[in-house]
Amino acid sequence: MAYNCFRNMSKSRVLVWFRNDLRIHDHVLLHEAAKKNKEILPVYCFNPLYYAKSPINTLRTGAFRAKFIIESVRDLRTEFKKKGGSLIVRFGQPEKIIPELVESYAINEVIVHQEVAYDENHEMDLVERELWKQKIPLTSFIGHTLFHKQDLPFPIKDIPDTFTIFRKKIEKESTVRPEYPMPENLSFIPVGDDGEIPDLIQLGLQEFSIGNEKYLTMEGGEKPALARLQHYIWNTESILTYKQTRNNLMGDTYSSKLSPYLSLGCISPRRIYHEIIRFENEKYANDSTYWLIFELLWRDFFRFMFKKHGNRYFLQSGIRKSTPVQFEGEAKRFESWKNATTPNQLINAFMKELKATGYLSNRGRQIVASYLIHDLKVNWTWGAWYFEEYLIDYSPASNWGNWSYLAGVGNDPKEIRIFNPEIQALKFDPHNNYSDYWNNLM
Ligand SMILES: Cc1cc2nc3c(=O)[nH]c(=O)nc-3n(C[C@H](O)[C@H](O)[C@H](O)COP(=O)(O)OP(=O)(O)OC[C@H]3O[C@@H](n4cnc5c(N)ncnc54)[C@H](O)[C@@H]3O)c2cc1C
Repeated sequence: MAYNCFRNMSKSRVLVWFRNDLRIHDHVLLHEAAKKNKEILPVYCFNPLYYAKSPINTLRTGAFRAKFIIESVRDLRTEFKKKGGSLIVRFGQPEKIIPELVESYAINEVIVHQEVAYDENHEMDLVERELWKQKIPLTSFIGHTLFHKQDLPFPIKDIPDTFTIFRKKIEKESTVRPEYPMPENLSFIPVGDDGEIPDLIQLGLQEFSIGNEKYLTMEGGEKPALARLQHYIWNTESILTYKQTRNNLMGDTYSSKLSPYLSLGCISPRRIYHEIIRFENEKYANDSTYWLIFELLWRDFFRFMFKKHGNRYFLQSGIRKSTPVQFEGEAKRFESWKNATTPNQLINAFMKELKATGYLSNRGRQIVASYLIHDLKVNWTWGAWYFEEYLIDYSPASNWGNWSYLAGVGNDPKEIRIFNPEIQALKFDPHNNYSDYWNNLM
């Protein structure tokens, strides 16, 4: 129920619709609202669509990511409360909730960050359609990538499909914009009922506990995100060895572990970039400090590719439009992969880590994906759906982009790329430390 208090009606009132941008720093929507002296109503909807079942009966969002989202939403609400406002939280379809709030709070405009994948775009279209009936505009802004779309040296339709060509041209011809300043003077519309933040049970999931402190535990929110960046770059200076350690399998600092924060927008890629540059200027610069920026470009690449090729990334035929194949008995082999009962102990260890923590190293993801596709001969989209349920850092473009790449129907210029698990074990787990750890534990 809305708080019926429309003081200051002369000020324009804007509903800020939060989705995967759960932060205050470097936030174009908050910046725009503050700059134009608008009163804001920040809103987050837990859309049931993202908690439903996938076409292969896995969950669209599993408990790890749901917990992380809940924590991030809570953290954002706390920040707004400190500034004199709150974050309205509702469970339901945004196309119903947002027009209702618009009406109750006499909103003049809704603003939101643009996304690139089908569901997120469709969700926005539905909201826009409903708002149109109320003659209220929905304005969308760009803000998820390191490089702004308008600063690319090519229009989206001409972006090269090969990462290296994309990267080299961008590195030569584009620059990263500065961050938006922290909005100091946010003015909030008074809110009566800001809504309960659902728990896992209310989202149809089960509570879980990560009993072993050696397991990776990540807490959602902007504050933990910034603390992780500080830890990785400044406190431990782990960034100085990133290029050498990024393919390791175990430990806290072999890679940045910033992915869940980036996926939910608890941290902006520009914040990471400018912090690395500051570290390079004040401390040291080497090929490792550069390499983290290089990896952020992969994230940008897949997002821009999604804008270019759209829904084809979700199809088995991929962007190459290759003919889909059905493999006899693949359902049974898929079960063995999911349940970590394959004949290969390294694969089983990876699948156990994923199931126990919601996280897997990049090398682990590459090896299990390649194994599912090339050794077990299973439809690769099933693996991508499974990752969508379990990954704490799931993001449509990064997940489906990487899976299609490894399946040979995406952006890999090589026809076929196989990660032989025996060779990979010799290279990255020569004493079976990783494999033994997970296989003895579970
Ligand atoms: C099959 C498969 C599925 C994947 N699914 C996802 C996903 O859903 N969400 C996700 O964020 N990443 C995904 N990745 C990419 C990558 O594995 C993770 O981003 C990385 O392991 C996260 O750990 P980190 O933050 O420590 O990465 P770091 O090595 O520290 O890299 C820093 C950041 O760069 C970006 N990045 C690094 N590698 C990639 C890459 N290959 N593609 C896109 N971005 C990259 C991430 O945002 C990451 O946080 C997937 C990779 C594979 C092979």
